Amino acid sequence: MTYRELIQSQLQQGQIERFDAQVLLLHVLKKNRAWLIAHDDEEASAAEIATFQALAARRRDGEPVAYLLGSREFYGREFIVNPSVLIPRPDTELLVELALARAPNNGKVLDLGTGSGCIPITLKLERGDLSVSALDLSSDALAVAQANAQSLSADVRWLESNWFAAVAGEIFDLIVSNPPYIHAEDDHLHQGDLRFEPSGALTDGHDGLAHLQTIITAAPSHLQPGAWLLLEHGWDQGAACREMLAAAGFSEVQTWQDLGVNDRVSGGRKP
Ligand code: GLN
Repeated sequence: MTYRELIQSQLQQGQIERFDAQVLLLHVLKKNRAWLIAHDDEEASAAEIATFQALAARRRDGEPVAYLLGSREFYGREFIVNPSVLIPRPDTELLVELALARAPNNGKVLDLGTGSGCIPITLKLERGDLSVSALDLSSDALAVAQANAQSLSADVRWLESNWFAAVAGEIFDLIVSNPPYIHAEDDHLHQGDLRFEPSGALTDGHDGLAHLQTIITAAPSHLQPGAWLLLEHGWDQGAACREMLAAAGFSEVQTWQDLGVNDRVSGGRKP
């Protein structure tokens, strides 16, 4: 069977997209798309066929492509991922951009609920002057984040912590977070990739605002005067976040939209 026939046979079985089938085959072959276009009439080996068919079957059962590949691109770099961490989303690049624009020179930055570590590692690699700390409740997630820091050579301080617990008494020049903000009743939790991601990284088990509220309430005592708190949230949570930020005494409270023109990040400055 040729590579072209191999992909075709998967498409005939349905429930898998051509693009995903191609990506999985390229992963098995350790080749790029240009190579496959030039060589798709070559015979696949028995081992290649077996490995590819096993991955395609898992994809058909809904497993996210990122978990099957073990990696996902974020801000131009490859991050290791596994089911212990949320798969980095392009939406989160907005949070990174806003943070890069607001982090003072040589600033001390904190990322809360770091998951794969995509946010703090990107901040450190884009801005070597920053001293970056990141924490997560999950030791399994931190293991992934540390593996990413090592493979990408990023110097980040990692802490296992329930929100601010491990940084008691510390003051930062910028705090960012992409916390679990999906409403527990949201149907999306039962669809697509989200079914396979850690539920503790997706939802607070309540209305989606509980962790955002916890962070907003505690952040002022960990920020320098004039320092920003930036939070990613759901498309319909902008107004609620601005209210919580204003109630916690933040100034310059505002919401930014992602490339899909959805409210995605809100923030404010400690007066
Ligand atoms: N900070 C990580 C990310 O943005 C993980 C976020 C999370 O698990 N809620 O991908």
